[in-house]
Parts: sequence; structure tokens; C-alpha cells
Amino acid sequence: MKTADVLIIGGGIIGCSIALELSRAGVQVLLLERDRIGCEASGEAAGMLAPQAEGLSPGPFLDLCLKSREMFDPLQEVLKEETGIDIEYVRSGVLFLLFTEEDEILAKRMFEEQRGRGLTVEWWDRQQLLEAEPHVTPEVRGALCLPDDHQVQNARMVRALALLGARRGVQLVEGSAVTGIVRDRDRVIGVRSLTETYHAGKVVVAAGAWSGGIGQLLNQDIPIRPARGQLLSVETGGNFSRHILYSGKGYVTPWPNGEVVVGSTIEFVGFEKQITVAGIGELLTMARRLVPALASRPILRTWSGFRPWTPDELPYLGAVPGSPGLYIASGHGRNGILLAPVTGQLMAELLRDEHPSLSLDPFRLDR
Ligand SMILES: Cc1cc2nc3c(=O)[nH]c(=O)nc-3n(C[C@H](O)[C@H](O)[C@H](O)COP(=O)(O)OP(=O)(O)OC[C@H]3O[C@@H](n4cnc5c(N)ncnc54)[C@H](O)[C@@H]3O)c2cc1C
Repeated sequence: MKTADVLIIGGGIIGCSIALELSRAGVQVLLLERDRIGCEASGEAAGMLAPQAEGLSPGPFLDLCLKSREMFDPLQEVLKEETGIDIEYVRSGVLFLLFTEEDEILAKRMFEEQRGRGLTVEWWDRQQLLEAEPHVTPEVRGALCLPDDHQVQNARMVRALALLGARRGVQLVEGSAVTGIVRDRDRVIGVRSLTETYHAGKVVVAAGAWSGGIGQLLNQDIPIRPARGQLLSVETGGNFSRHILYSGKGYVTPWPNGEVVVGSTIEFVGFEKQITVAGIGELLTMARRLVPALASRPILRTWSGFRPWTPDELPYLGAVPGSPGLYIASGHGRNGILLAPVTGQLMAELLRDEHPSLSLDPFRLDR
């Protein structure tokens, strides 16, 4: 039987970030991933770190997102230095494009709220926008410029987090699906896979969109469902836009390798991974509307992933009520890449029985 201080279920960006933070403090961590590290949403996302573009109103969730956004710069340095992996943290900024009167009303609220919160936000008129981004459609009315929203290559980031964690002693077990929870009366004391039983002082559910299924293993309701997102990428040679272009209907994100990523649908169709005519059609219409010149460029690839979605779109972070020894860090929806560093830090504090440096109360499972 294998043992650890903390056992983490799920090797996405959330599980890997928590594991790394715990390993820094000398905690013995075992992470079980049923397939490969980063093979689901964390390897499939668009990589935007964009709480301002999301238009989040002031409150605990925006605070959580902003704290995490600040952590990327130092984190990417550490990851590059210690693993050699460049996670391509690009300070691209986001342009939130305005097409209609409704867009302008929304943008006005965002502008005022974000200025009030001390964030940098500029209102660009059409001319200013087209000078900066000549490929954007002339139909646009203007944009909010959000220079502090950035991007990262999430697939590289998960790899780097996992590699550094492993170097610091995290035991990563790939190809090991958790199929049962071991209890001593109410207390959770470990998990079972098909071939092994593992014991741990604490168990963390970080299984992304599959976290609800882990809850079912112990009759615990974890209301997380998959929200499929379809994406496609276009080959551009790298000269289409410098900023991430964001609109109410989707986004066009220039990646450092010259690909432009167009995303994304939000669909509640269970764990159906298909790429559909309707989904890709919707993305192509949106992309052509934002940047008409994309129409003549070749499509490179299409893919999809499952966001872990909660009913109120806030993550679950903390102890699972009624199941001592069990914790959850899941349900990060469309912001799990952005939220990985802060989730790692706060969950590691909690799991070390320290007071989390930001209150986790708004993110309790029983809120
Ligand atoms: C199309 C799309 C675009 C996105 N764009 C962005 C973006 O631009 N910015 C942003 O911040 N976020 C974005 N997201 C959201 C982000 O990808 C997710 O919130 C984040 O990756 C969730 O991470 P996770 O570790 O919780 O889940 P996952 O990455 O899904 O990892 C969960 C892991 O648990 C494993 N697992 C499941 N069941 C078991 C089991 N029984 N035993 C062992 N292991 C198990 C799975 O194999 C998986 O590897 C996007 C998501 C999608 C789908």
C-alpha cells in the first residue's frame, strides 16, 4: 500500500499547481492522473489570463482572479529557470471590441467599475483601434483596451508545473484512475485504483469536469458538469493582431507561433467531445466578423475540451463538508488557467492547516 501526506486526484493544471506548492513546503504528495498529465481542459484551453475582459464585477471572485494574474510573472521566471520550459507568458493585452449600443453600455459599466477598482482600462475610439490593429473590421465602433490582461501557453505550463513538482518530490502516477474512496467511518483516508490502494492524511479532488463523478463514489453531491468548448486555429504567419481580440461572441487570440486561436463555444452536451458543423460554423462567423482577412487563411486544426462548470460559475475551494479528510479544488469554469497559481497557493495553505491568505468562504462547496 502506498502512502502520502496529501493525495491529489487529477493531473490538470489545478492538481499540478497544488502539488507544486505543497512540495515547496516539504509535504509528501502523491498525484493520481487516470490518463496523462494535462491531457484534458488544461492542455486544451486558449490560455487567456483575462479577468478584466470577462467583465467580472468587484467582489471576492475578481479579487481571486487579480491575485492570480499577478502571480504569473514571477512564476514563469521560476518555471523557466528551474525546468527550462518557457510557458510563453505574453503581455499582449486584450481589446474588448464594441459593435453595438449594448456593447457600449456594457463597456461603460466595465470601464467605471474597473477604474473604480484601480485597474488600468482605456477607452479607444474607432480610429485609435484601427491604427493599432489594421486588420480589425472597420464596422467596429471602438474598444476597451485592457493592457494588463495577458496570455500563456497552458499546455507548456502544466508540463512545467508537473516537472518542477516531480523534481521537488511529488510522486506523479499517470494511467491510474481513482475508482473508489477509502474511509474510516466518516473520515476519508485514501483512494483505490483498479490495481492499488493508497492511504493519505488528506485527499484533494481536482478532477476537473469529472469531479462530480468522484463525489458519487461517496454519495457526495459535487454539482460540476462539463461545458464543452470547441476551438480552431488559423495559420496567419503572425501578422494579424498584436492584442487578443475579445467580443461578446468569442475571441481571436494570436499565439507566439503565428497561429491565431478562435474560440470558443459553451455547450452542455455531456462528455461528447465531437467537433460539430454548428460549433465550428459559429466560430468562423465570429472570427470573420472581427477580422475579415482571416477568411483567406488556412485552418490548421480544431479541438474541444470540457470546462468544469458549477451552477453559479464560481469554483469550489476548500474542505468537503461531512467528509473529514476530503478537500476540493475544482469548478474553475472558463478561468482555470488564470486561477491555477492562486488555487495552488491557497489550497496548499489550507492543507498545511494555515489560514489561507484570501478567504475561501465565498468558494465553499456548501455556499
Ligand atoms: C475550450 C476551452 C478554452 C478555455 N480557455 C481558457 C482560457 O483562455 N483561460 C483560462 O483561464 N481558462 C480557460 N479554460 C478553462 C480551463 O481550461 C479549465 O478551467 C482548467 O483547465 C481546469 O483545470 P483542472 O485541472 O480543474 O481540470 P482538467 O484539466 O480537466 O484536469 C482534470 C484531470 O483529472 C483527471 N481525472 C478525471 N477523473 C479522474 C479519476 N477518476 N482519477 C484520476 N484522474 C482523473 C483527468 O484525466 C484530467 O487530466 C478553457 C477551457 C476550455 C475547454
